[in-house]
Amino acid sequence: MSEVKCRRCLLNELAQGRELYESVRAYRAELPPEERTEDREFEARLRECRECGYLANATCMQCGCFVEIRAAKRDIHCPMLKW
Ligand code: SF4
Repeated sequence: MSEVKCRRCLLNELAQGRELYESVRAYRAELPPEERTEDREFEARLRECRECGYLANATCMQCGCFVEIRAAKRDIHCPMLKW
């Protein structure tokens, strides 16, 4: 059976991504505050990703990262400069 790609889905929305999402939450919580993207900015970044054609199965097809991980660090930006 072929894998179904979910466009506009983040890890926390994929049934198979829940465990990974918990890892992302832990990773983000452990980042020093000066490195961690603030909550409001983090959510804004993920809204951009959900609307982006490069998102597939919670992964950015431009950089290969899970977007929730990429968005978690303040000084890492979208490869297409959307955030
Ligand atoms: S990181 Fe940028 S290019 Fe990648 S899915 Fe998000 S908005 Fe799109």
